[in-house]
Amino acid sequence: MSVLVLAERDGAQLKPSTYQAMTAAAVWELPIDLLVYGDEVEVAAAEAKQLAGVRRVLTAEAGHFQYPLVEDVQELVLSIASQYTHILSAHSVFGKSVVPGIAARLDIAPITDVIEIQAPSTYVRPAYAGNILTTIENHEPVQIITVRATAFRATVSRTNDQGDDAELISIDVPPAREISQWISEQLTHSERPELNSARVVIAGGRSLGEDFNALLDPIAVQLDAAIGATRACVDAGFAANDLQVGQTGTIIAPELYIAVGISGAMQHLAGIKDSKIIVAINHDPDAPIFKHADYGLVGDLFTVLPELNAALQLNAELQQP
Ligand SMILES: Cc1cc2nc3c(=O)[nH]c(=O)nc-3n(C[C@H](O)[C@H](O)[C@H](O)COP(=O)(O)OP(=O)(O)OC[C@H]3O[C@@H](n4cnc5c(N)ncnc54)[C@H](O)[C@@H]3O)c2cc1C
Repeated sequence: MSVLVLAERDGAQLKPSTYQAMTAAAVWELPIDLLVYGDEVEVAAAEAKQLAGVRRVLTAEAGHFQYPLVEDVQELVLSIASQYTHILSAHSVFGKSVVPGIAARLDIAPITDVIEIQAPSTYVRPAYAGNILTTIENHEPVQIITVRATAFRATVSRTNDQGDDAELISIDVPPAREISQWISEQLTHSERPELNSARVVIAGGRSLGEDFNALLDPIAVQLDAAIGATRACVDAGFAANDLQVGQTGTIIAPELYIAVGISGAMQHLAGIKDSKIIVAINHDPDAPIFKHADYGLVGDLFTVLPELNAALQLNAELQQP
């Protein structure tokens, strides 16, 4: 019995969600292999083999993995799947695309978006936009799981008393399936931390209008925060699509979440409910978001945000020696 964890990379390095998936995989107390694929995997593989709990790092290097396509990653996983009783990935955009196809080809029902593994085969996952938590016992011969990364702490590098680094093994890569093709990508480069791993997130609703960035950016810079948005705000064209937080956007669990001009629809709350502290700013004292906030400020955001920015600036100046 052993576990295969699918690594994900951000450039040369492993994504934080891979560290969190490793923590989830450790619950089974079985040997864990971490699969790292790409056109150049040296840096990520070196990082992977230092992680606590990894038995072997399987490297799959091929030119067609410069831009990994779902079908090719599925083929790769399927080529080694028979060695594993457990296959696990983060419930990321890529994980959500790759894992169901693997499960279908193995004729196994996957359990997705797991927030707790009650070993060995009982899982907790949210349903109905997080309004209920379901506990599922899975009797499939292979447990195929995606985990909500923010529900697990990141694993750490192994210490000296945890033995040598994991073994590195290069595996054969099946040929590209060529049923889809990478054409181009448009990446948004931001100075801000990534939304799904930021310690602080400030998010705005559609009421910020065209001033969305002008109002939130200066505060985000001072708090070293990521910026998020509601779907209504994204649909209105005030914020980029990848900033959407919620059921159909990114699910986050920052230490501090500041919701500005956000009503608190259940689909939005589904994405923020694991935040440690929620602060809401809204001019309607009856806005549903206040029921979920630790701190609420009833006020007009167009007055409150400039005041908050000025106060943070003053505080920063006072901190300077
Ligand atoms: C299938 C489905 C999936 C969805 N997925 C998501 C999702 O992933 N994420 C998501 O966010 N939504 C999602 N939605 C949409 C969701 O239902 C809400 O419509 C949306 O979250 C509302 O966004 P909002 O709070 O910006 O807008 P509104 O609901 O219009 O709220 C605006 C708020 O701003 C306040 N306000 C207005 N002016 C000011 C001011 N000057 N100062 C202070 N406060 C002010 C108002 O009091 C109000 O509370 C989904 C909906 C469906 C049906």
